[in-house]
Amino acid sequence: MSSLKNKNIIVTGASGGIGNAIVEKLYKEEANILATGTKIEKLEKLKSKFDNIKILKFDILQHEKIEEFINNATNELGGSLDCIVNNAGITKDNLTIRMNLDEWKKVIDINLTSTFLMCKYSIKKMLKNKAGKIINISSVVGHTGNVGQANYTASKAGIIAMSKSLSIEYAKKNININCISPGFISTAMTDQIDEKHKEAIIAKIPSNRLGRPEDIANAVIFLGSDQSDYINGETIHVNGGMYMG
Ligand code: NAP
Repeated sequence: MSSLKNKNIIVTGASGGIGNAIVEKLYKEEANILATGTKIEKLEKLKSKFDNIKILKFDILQHEKIEEFINNATNELGGSLDCIVNNAGITKDNLTIRMNLDEWKKVIDINLTSTFLMCKYSIKKMLKNKAGKIINISSVVGHTGNVGQANYTASKAGIIAMSKSLSIEYAKKNININCISPGFISTAMTDQIDEKHKEAIIAKIPSNRLGRPEDIANAVIFLGSDQSDYINGETIHVNGGMYMG
């Protein structure tokens, strides 16, 4: 039997490409899922596909409401929280000399500050259970840097360092906090890249293809399960070999 069966799990960014695949894999493991995002139509579509999942529309930019969101989501799941997958994220690319403060702040606020607050209030719930798994989605460019992404790369590198600190704080409480760093994955986010640039990216990937959302979801299943109980503060690279940390 899967160790994820009946586990109460929140997935943020569930309405996006990678989030959809994470929900689908967790559903197959018979987890009890709460899927969230800002687009209700996309969440409803997910619900029609995976009948007994719960959905909750929430904009994670509302920092002052994240505690309330975690409380509501946990109640929807039945009162306790076993795992959260912090997958929501955005890009607002620009060369540094053209990047305005709003582009910088929005990406840091959504990708890093919201992830921190989601972790904070999830940990409070998990301490009651004396167990928990937190999986934060970073990015390969958080390790390598990338042109036009000073804001995004800073946010994704920040997620990794923050997760290490949290894991040192809460490992003794049986809470595992780990990251996944996807390489270039075929979703709406990478659809924005023009074909020529995409070909140049693929040329640098030893596996010779973009990743699939399911490649990331597979790593989520591992980090969410009891197979990863002794892994803490770690980052799993899922990038077809383009970067080896
Ligand atoms: P995506 O299809 O654009 O999905 C992004 C998700 O984030 C959507 O579900 C979106 O929800 C949610 N989101 C954005 N802003 C939000 C907000 N203010 N409040 C709540 N939810 C919000 O992108 P993806 O490719 O699946 O990316 C998922 C994660 O993987 C991101 O963290 C991304 O940085 C990371 N990643 C992706 C790649 C890649 O190549 N695709 C590579 C490395 C890392 P709504 O649409 O409902 O607003």
